[in-house]
Amino acid sequence: MAHHSTRVLILGSGPAGLTAALYAARANLAPLLVDGSNPGGQLTITTEVENYPGFEKGVQGPEMMEIFRRQAERFGTIFDGGHATEVRLGKWPFEVVVEHQTFSAKALIIATGATAKLLGIDTEKQLMGYGVSACATCDGAFFKDKEVVVVGGGDTAMEEATFLTRFATKVDVIHRRHELRASKIMQERARKNPKIRFIWNSAIETIDGTQKDGVTGVHLKNTETGAVTHHKTDGVFIAIGHKPNSELFKGQLDMDEVGYLKTQPGSTYTNIPGVFAAGDIADSVYRQAVTAAGTGCMAAIDAERWLEANHPD
Ligand code: FAD
Ligand code: NAP
Repeated sequence: MAHHSTRVLILGSGPAGLTAALYAARANLAPLLVDGSNPGGQLTITTEVENYPGFEKGVQGPEMMEIFRRQAERFGTIFDGGHATEVRLGKWPFEVVVEHQTFSAKALIIATGATAKLLGIDTEKQLMGYGVSACATCDGAFFKDKEVVVVGGGDTAMEEATFLTRFATKVDVIHRRHELRASKIMQERARKNPKIRFIWNSAIETIDGTQKDGVTGVHLKNTETGAVTHHKTDGVFIAIGHKPNSELFKGQLDMDEVGYLKTQPGSTYTNIPGVFAAGDIADSVYRQAVTAAGTGCMAAIDAERWLEANHPD
């Protein structure tokens, strides 16, 4: 098995990883970045991004990530197209197995992101960015004066539904049971909102529409009777939770009960000195490209200063 050494190894090529790479490269650390199986990260599955500062007129998600990548490359980031399958953080330099190679690194930046859980139905991925969304903060503004549905019964669904009432004329929350999982306060807020209605005991069976015309409706199956009905809508917001991509680090790094990596407040330090975490992998709250990029910058600065203080050679 080939073995390569690097000062800074970055896992992940979303906004957090690529920003960490840009800063580490400009600090002359010649970072090595491992892309993972989703080069460019979550934004490669969306269309228009309108809330990333600097892109006044908006930008397509994949195009924006291409720009991030070229900027990181320009200052000397080395890219590896593989996916990490094992990390050994109990020894230093740390070891990361990427397919048939082992990389050893003096500092490690983890930016493996999180994945929005999806329903697993056919048209969902195809219409993502064309009327289907997993992020109201990102896409709510595209639904001004339209009707939308939100799927889920947890706090995220309540929060997204409430937020969407700023734009949409009607928000229907579709939940598979008759009881919400959300906290009392979030439920109350949603229940009191005159634009929100609940459709109980229902699961989306199909999302209807095309990339050209957007979403036109959904077919709902009653989870008790099995009856299928059609429901007209312009947008589907899936809010059934997120999964941080942290399996690799279980038993080695501190994480919360969902699997988000824990960092020391105001920094990207994890519980292991020399290992830093940035972006959605350590953020269950904001989950935005700009916050991921921001913490990616922090991780590179933290790594650079940690190396300087502890391993300056
Ligand atoms: P991610 O973008 O999730 O990237 C994670 C990276 O880690 C990937 O490159 C993956 O290949 C890699 N990886 C995972 N496991 C491994 C491994 N084992 N080894 C190596 N690499 C690995 N935010 C906004 O601010 N504005 C928007 O308009 C917006 N729209 C969105 C639309 C959609 C459909 C979705 C899903 C999200 C959207 N978001 C938006 C949220 C935004 O995409 C995320 O907050 C952001 O991408 C998080 O960046 P990240 O770098 O932390 O992780
Ligand atoms: P969650 O609490 O796990 O809720 C997920 C919801 O989606 C549940 O209602 C679940 O239904 C439903 N669901 C899951 N899979 C589904 C599927 N395949 N099809 C249809 N429905 C499905 O997730 P979350 O709402 O994202 O919250 C995660 C954590 O973040 C929670 O601890 C929450 O309190 C916290 N959070 C807090 C706030 C806040 O306080 N402001 C905001 C957002 C999130 P069932 O109920 O039937 O299982």
